[in-house]
Amino acid sequence: MFLPAKKILQDALKNGYAVGAFNTSNLETTQAIVNAAAVKKSPLIINISESAIKYAGLLAIISLIKLVAEQGQAKNLPIAIQLDHGKNFDKFPLFIKAGFTSIMIDASRMPYAENASLTKKTVELARKSGVSVQAELGAVPYADEESGFVSWGKIMTDPNLAKKFVEETKVDSLAVAIGNAHGFFKERSDLDFERLRKISKLAKVPLVLHGASDFPADRIKEAIEGGVASFHIDTSLRVAFTEGIREFLAENPAEYDPRLILGYGRQKVQKEIEGKIEIFGSTGKG
Ligand SMILES: [Zn+2]
Repeated sequence: MFLPAKKILQDALKNGYAVGAFNTSNLETTQAIVNAAAVKKSPLIINISESAIKYAGLLAIISLIKLVAEQGQAKNLPIAIQLDHGKNFDKFPLFIKAGFTSIMIDASRMPYAENASLTKKTVELARKSGVSVQAELGAVPYADEESGFVSWGKIMTDPNLAKKFVEETKVDSLAVAIGNAHGFFKERSDLDFERLRKISKLAKVPLVLHGASDFPADRIKEAIEGGVASFHIDTSLRVAFTEGIREFLAENPAEYDPRLILGYGRQKVQKEIEGKIEIFGSTGKG
């Protein structure tokens, strides 16, 4: 059952758990995500980035997700299909028509006024189709772009600005920067939980943390208590998939059946996701 992320996140916030938003760009990862949610009876957000659309094709990846998610145990679970880090507003109508139930507009690298205005435009567009919107305020850095050096103090989300942003844009959920980062950083900042709690209190919308792949369980719990209703998980799935395949080929160097090789990677990704769902506390909530 496909729903806007808004409903899934509000239920999570109200009941003290978080829902994983897992990225896919292919059949095996999609199956791993959906199977893990079905095993754990968990609500689910499936993330597709603009680069994944470029890789797989818009209709191919959306149709694939719909077909996989409408089969078997998963078909009664609340599932949102979410555009991750959408930067091309002009394509949003096409994406919504194709079946996304949630759009993340990422104008976080722009000045405040432009971010707010683009987010507001996206909300107005999405509302017409019952689609929900996530925006980002502050900037969650990328390991590959920033070469490991980040002035954390300058990019973290300002709680008062977050309040203003949500009031101005009417956005449904907000991705925040509190020391989290995409990919694996050598030097991490401490997570600023006091800032997180302030943002949650003032902005009054479900908060989202990106770059949460390597957060230990106690930090995840603290983040959920601080108002986080969703974690975006991509890197650790890539690692599980690739390491699974490396391991399989090391043990079976003569194997050439892609189904066995990719199937082993798929199994590793599913286990990784099941573990995350347990930590997020969304088991049995679907
Ligand atoms: Zn992200």
